[in-house]
Amino acid sequence: MASDLDAVAGPSAATRVVGVMGHPVAHSLSPRLHNAAFAALGVDWVSVGFPVPPGRAADALAGARTLGIAGLSVTMPHKEDVAAAVDACTATAARLGAVNCVVDVDGRWEGDNTDGAGLLAALVRRHGFDPAGTRCLVVGAGGAARAVVAALGDAGVDEVVVANRTRARAEAAAALAGPAGHAGEADPAGCDLVVNATPAGMGDVAGAPSGWPVDPARLTPGQLVVDLVYHPPETPWLAAAASRGCRTANGLGMLVHQAARQIERWTGAEAPVAAMWAAVDPSDASGTSV
Ligand code: NAP
Repeated sequence: MASDLDAVAGPSAATRVVGVMGHPVAHSLSPRLHNAAFAALGVDWVSVGFPVPPGRAADALAGARTLGIAGLSVTMPHKEDVAAAVDACTATAARLGAVNCVVDVDGRWEGDNTDGAGLLAALVRRHGFDPAGTRCLVVGAGGAARAVVAALGDAGVDEVVVANRTRARAEAAAALAGPAGHAGEADPAGCDLVVNATPAGMGDVAGAPSGWPVDPARLTPGQLVVDLVYHPPETPWLAAAASRGCRTANGLGMLVHQAARQIERWTGAEAPVAAMWAAVDPSDASGTSV
């Protein structure tokens, strides 16, 4: 029989709890994305932020298990530490040595990485971009670039060139794409896709515009140009690419779709991507940009 208490909205003792662990974490859009998904799915789950100090990822995982946390999203600076602390990693997370999603699989923590697949899902859905057989340039060799390069390799690109100011890191990142990957210059000639995975698109680096990830004058109309930054929504470099006639995308699609894959791993339900998009893109309240 329903009681008055059943009418009280909000989490209860039966609510399943997930969260994003990071440091700092208060700015994270992940709980907003997850909670939009849970509301659209009509499930009794909630997502919150867990501020976990650097070096305490393993403690946090143990505590989360004791508390019955249903899953975790992981952001800076914990992705590598969590990869080392979970019970098992997916093949993707093991290859990257970085975890952005922790899933409870029969009482064991499994680490996954949904970043690269998230970006490619966004580019397929919004731009109809099929990576198979394409030539791609990725600028940067940090965690985001590595995830993208690995996903491009898995998706069957013909070639992915990784350009980075520290050459050794470019070579290590390129190896994640197998034979298709190699380190090189930031030359977009002949590329179908150009991805900036550095903060340099903001244009505030010394020597700009020569300090930009790729000289906009070398971009050609029709190329798909992506800046993984989403705040501001259009970096100066992305604006320059658009003015060259390139198709452009910021990093919001990657953010939404990596979270969508987390939702699917935790709940087993298809993620309501339109609702998630609408939750973080005020210019698109209907979520039609998915
Ligand atoms: P990271 O691991 O710290 O790597 C940063 C990369 O940028 C490195 O390759 C670094 O080169 C390069 N770099 C830094 N400052 C530079 C500069 N002034 N000029 C040229 N290269 C520079 O960072 P990350 O996590 O990969 O993030 C990279 C970017 O992606 C950030 O802008 C971040 O906001 C964005 N991001 C977006 C999403 C999303 O969901 N949309 C997710 C993750 C990250 P060195 O190797 O030489 O140090």
